[in-house]
Amino acid sequence: MKVWTPEYYHHFRCIAGACPDSCCKEWEVDVDDTAAAFYRNLEGPLGDRLRRVMKDTDDGTVMIIEDGRCPMWRQDGLCRIQAELGHDALCQVCQQFPRLRHDYGTFVEYGLELSCPEAARLILSQSHKMSAEEIPGGEEPDYEEDVMQILLESRQRILQFLDETPLSPNQALAVLLLYTHSVQSWLDGGEEAVLDVEDCLELAKKYAANGDWNLLVSFFQNLEILTPNWRDRLAVPLADSSWHTGFIPLVKYFIGRYWLQAVADYDLIGRVKMIIAACLLVYHLGGKFVETAQLFSKEIENDPDNLESLLDGAYTSPALTDIHLLSLLLNC
Ligand code: SF4
Repeated sequence: MKVWTPEYYHHFRCIAGACPDSCCKEWEVDVDDTAAAFYRNLEGPLGDRLRRVMKDTDDGTVMIIEDGRCPMWRQDGLCRIQAELGHDALCQVCQQFPRLRHDYGTFVEYGLELSCPEAARLILSQSHKMSAEEIPGGEEPDYEEDVMQILLESRQRILQFLDETPLSPNQALAVLLLYTHSVQSWLDGGEEAVLDVEDCLELAKKYAANGDWNLLVSFFQNLEILTPNWRDRLAVPLADSSWHTGFIPLVKYFIGRYWLQAVADYDLIGRVKMIIAACLLVYHLGGKFVETAQLFSKEIENDPDNLESLLDGAYTSPALTDIHLLSLLLNC
């Protein structure tokens, strides 16, 4: 089977003590059962400390947060478990983060999570070109293969459009929304979707009316909020927004991560509205682009409840209707 990897993936190295945020900060790390059992039986001062800071919840074992951080975090930015016992002693989440692996049975795709500052820097500045490696293995897919084929073809088309378009990112996002409606109809049994950029843009301009940023921001204010920093940013946007070119890699990252997931429930339009809402919010909050995108990802992408609410909101919230998204994209 083929394993696909974006070029930026190979350049990732954890910057540990130099990390401006750290994956140990503000998150309750999930400890898998194997690691939890190992930690509970570990002798010596590290074992004693681990037994004190692990907590059992209804959803499994977590590390408690102390002073806003994982209690295994050391002043030098390194993890005490890794420093004393090595990488293999880390729980699964900490071994993998920020690496992503999407296994579709007959092929696998790798990526990085935007919520890690160093990964965000690479994702938003380096090539997304995919290379493939053939490895043994693979299994029968548990999805409709013709649906996956549609998703792969349409994703290829929209990524190529994003690579080549002279349009500004907000106009490109409007085209993405209109094209996705055609792909959704293709998925639902309609005709093959054609990407006609001029048609999409003309239609988008016709639908765009007056958008209300407060509607969008209050939607996000009503989701779960992890950090005080995010609460402050939502309360007072930094107001130096611009649709600079970094948005194209951001959209490509989201498309790479979420487009094929529609094979499970055929809901492509909900995911694309989620992507557009994410870009609009990052634009509106302003500040340093990479930092704002990373913070968005930490707060929203890494919280399954927030992601679910955002997907639901694509169908229920007035902030996320097609017309409102197009209005914010083209008229504000
Ligand atoms: S967030 Fe990324 S760069 Fe920072 S400590 Fe974690 S893995 Fe390393």
